[in-house]
Amino acid sequence: KVVTRFAPSPTGFLHIGGARTALFNYLFARHHGGRFLLRIEDTDRARSTEQAIEAIFDGLGWLGLEGDEEPVFQFARLHRHAEVAQQMLAAGHAYKCFATPEELAELREQQRAARQPMRYDGRWRDRDPAEGGDKPFVIRLKAPRDGETVIEDAVQGRVVVQNNELDDMILLRSDGTPTYMLAVVVDDHDMGITHVIRGDDHLNNAFRQLGIIRAMGWPEPVYAHIPLIHGADGAKLSKRHGAMGVDAYRDELGMLPEAVNNYLLRLGWGHGDEEIIDRARAVELFDLSGVGRSPSRFDIKKLESLNGHCIREADDGRLALLVAERMAPLDDSAAAQARLHKLADIMPALKPRAKTLQELTEGAAFLFATRPIHVDEAAAKLLDTDARTLIKTVADALGKLPDWSLEGIETAIRTVAEDAGLGLGKVAQPLRAALTGRTTSPGIFDVLYHLGQEETLGRLGDQIR
Ligand code: GLU
Repeated sequence: KVVTRFAPSPTGFLHIGGARTALFNYLFARHHGGRFLLRIEDTDRARSTEQAIEAIFDGLGWLGLEGDEEPVFQFARLHRHAEVAQQMLAAGHAYKCFATPEELAELREQQRAARQPMRYDGRWRDRDPAEGGDKPFVIRLKAPRDGETVIEDAVQGRVVVQNNELDDMILLRSDGTPTYMLAVVVDDHDMGITHVIRGDDHLNNAFRQLGIIRAMGWPEPVYAHIPLIHGADGAKLSKRHGAMGVDAYRDELGMLPEAVNNYLLRLGWGHGDEEIIDRARAVELFDLSGVGRSPSRFDIKKLESLNGHCIREADDGRLALLVAERMAPLDDSAAAQARLHKLADIMPALKPRAKTLQELTEGAAFLFATRPIHVDEAAAKLLDTDARTLIKTVADALGKLPDWSLEGIETAIRTVAEDAGLGLGKVAQPLRAALTGRTTSPGIFDVLYHLGQEETLGRLGDQIR
């Protein structure tokens, strides 16, 4: 049975790379009918924050990537990690090292001077620990010195390291706390992890972790180290490229979770030309052989266009709710409910043009503006004397409409345009400016219809007074 995990360190936000790692682990587990677990690697007490933990849960929840069990908190398992170090010591797979920090600094200095790689030289490997007396010590892995360690990585292929390049790493510090390397291995083992899917910045760690796993005689997981995400310019993804927290994609840009999921899936994994892949289809298709070996490039434009697609596919009521929430906190008040209804009504007219919820929100804002509405600079330019004359004619025609239907509105406007010898666009432009205060909006008939007769005449009146 497949068991995967996502193991973020809660030291910052849940960034886009982490979210993709979580997604791949989730999909792989689901595809194989296995389990997907979450582990919070909070052993770095100085840098781990409650806020970051919340951000991780929040982001994963939004993306629909919750773990199948209660999350494991690594720091809480400290004693278990120490216990394993003691077991390794007792079994002769680890040893006590009494080298002082000064001694080790001196060793490093010598190695530096000799231009040798800096690594621990195993000076306590074969010494009698009794010689150390009651001085402080660390516990180190007795790593194999000859031969090589091979990883058949499910993404990277065969990767080999000479064992003499790996030194006897510390498992337990002199204060009794486990190192990160030990903690990861023990937790993965105890959680029954069968597949370790993570960023390829951890590939080097895998060789060290294998050393511990083999010493303990534990089953080895399959490793899959996925290439990191780079910016559009090929450089490592940074804030400048949009390496924001997942929450910013939701809150600031107004992305839908299915769009972010779809985008992240296609970032480094492919299945032919299929672009639009929903969760069910992703579970059906996902495998590690489809993960590419070269870094993927983050392209916000692609994400936006996918998001636009998802908006067009999304249910109008759901979009209305999301947009209403962006405008003001939503409660049970009649005003809030009226806002929701208005938004749901206009959504079909609004959504074909929007790439983000933010754009939907801006596009819908005219509905709720209070008179006299604010007219932006570009729109104001469209409201010259000729335009005002035209608006007066339109207002007269619309004022006479016995009922406010889309057909009636359309006929009235088209008649005004024909009588004036103008194309429809020439009439729509100043109308749009007067009614929305902007130069872009949904189709003009929709704008009129959804504003209602009274509000429309009021706004037009404000411009011709
Ligand atoms: N905690 C590590 C990180 O945030 C991941 C460790 C792992 O996946 O083994 O990068």
